[in-house]
Amino acid sequence: MAISYRSTRDHHATPFSASQAVLQGLSPDGGLFVPDHLPQLNLELMALPKLTYQELALKILQPFFSDYTATELQECIAKAYGDNFTSPQITPVKFTDELAYLELFHGPTIAFKDLALQLLPHLLQLAAQKKQTALKTVILTATSGDTGKAAMAGFADVKDTQIIVFYPKDGVSEVQEKQMRSQTGANTHVVAITGNFDDAQTKVKEIFDDPNMILALRQQGYQFSSANSINIGRLFPQMVYYFYAYGQILKAGKITAGQAVNFSVPTGNFGDILAGWYAKKLGLPIKKLLCASNENNVLTDFFASGIYDRKRPFHVTTSPSMDILVSSNLERLLFYTLDQDAAKTAYLMNQLSTRGVYTLDAELIAKLQAEFFADFATIDQTATEIKRVFEKEAYPLDPHTAVGSFVARQYQLKTGDLTPMIVVSTASPYKFPEAVLDALDKRQEATGLAALEQLQQVIAQPYPQTIAELFTAPLLHDLTCDPKDMKKLVLKLVEQN
Ligand SMILES: *Cc1c(COP(=O)(O)O)cnc(C)c1O
Repeated sequence: MAISYRSTRDHHATPFSASQAVLQGLSPDGGLFVPDHLPQLNLELMALPKLTYQELALKILQPFFSDYTATELQECIAKAYGDNFTSPQITPVKFTDELAYLELFHGPTIAFKDLALQLLPHLLQLAAQKKQTALKTVILTATSGDTGKAAMAGFADVKDTQIIVFYPKDGVSEVQEKQMRSQTGANTHVVAITGNFDDAQTKVKEIFDDPNMILALRQQGYQFSSANSINIGRLFPQMVYYFYAYGQILKAGKITAGQAVNFSVPTGNFGDILAGWYAKKLGLPIKKLLCASNENNVLTDFFASGIYDRKRPFHVTTSPSMDILVSSNLERLLFYTLDQDAAKTAYLMNQLSTRGVYTLDAELIAKLQAEFFADFATIDQTATEIKRVFEKEAYPLDPHTAVGSFVARQYQLKTGDLTPMIVVSTASPYKFPEAVLDALDKRQEATGLAALEQLQQVIAQPYPQTIAELFTAPLLHDLTCDPKDMKKLVLKLVEQN
């Protein structure tokens, strides 16, 4: 039976096709799209080491994008995962003495968002064709730093599409900001907002749901879509690298087929780790998923107590892509934990938006604790982990990966569980040179590009071409706005095109 999609908040379970779900991003009721059932994958664990990333992607994604033909999907995959990645393996695994690191940073923006955002524009274009809509698309995205650039890189010059990215003015690294502001493509727009990521994300959701905005856009010949990690066109492609990693570890002789592994996932919006959870549901032998947070540790508390409380101080950390207090994708996990009860899910989400907090029953949180382990690293612990791993293994970690690495070792210490552990490495250290140099005690006041040069000398690895280009790229975007003016600005930008 072909998979269709439904909203986590719709108790009628109204069906949507995959392409509709890709096109809309978010369900009209504010819920997230989930598949109506999970497929039986025709995939032997033993066969994993023999498959290329692209072959594996097709096998895994085909059932989830059921109204795309195999040929269409194959073409999308070939375009998404080609020589735009600097590793032919796309997501290679690096082994150190202690741990394995799944490197997701060999794409054009050197962070893991590329794995989804190099594919999404192709899925979206096909979805628009299938719907035979005359409307053009406005992609609206809030970013904590990495999504913005990756989305623009994916959507730049895509026909009949405008993309508008909002990022927190003081919440991203200098390299991240330069990457975004130097983005080419007449259809790309980048705006710094005087607020944090949650402000940006809340406003973007509000704009999506605002009937007046939808109408105003329609009059200009446009409809909204989202490139945020709630889109199924981003979520499900992220399952592929969990399987691929398993194949690599099998190939390296570190495990036997069927043996369980753990993944430690640096987490913000809960998209990456949720894809790991889906991979497990599809049969990948994962024992525990480690939800690794920074000082914005709302998820650590949630998994410990069942209380999700976003009313807490917001910390700007050295791992900005995880500076998030409302993890959108958690709604999908809740929906499953509540036995797919849409009314209960809607109730909890409403509690979160109106009261800032909700509580899950003890019995339900126990269910989650069986599958997840959650912990966090402070800024200092993150820095210490970068230094420790570099001194011991000559392997430089970016701060997000260091959070995952720290939590992985905490887990091993606390539980004694020595199941093979894979840390999901979500960014290149070159994306956060100041923080990495600080951690290594090697920073000489340098910031931005000067820090990149310095880091290159310290870790003795050349930075990738996409980073080298930043040194000469002109800044093409210079917009700032208050979160409350985002609506007006969106309309203005659309009208200008
Ligand atoms: C986005 C991001 C994360 C968090 O991923 P989620 O899917 O939002 O949980 C972690 N690390 C880096 C480098 C990121 O860009």
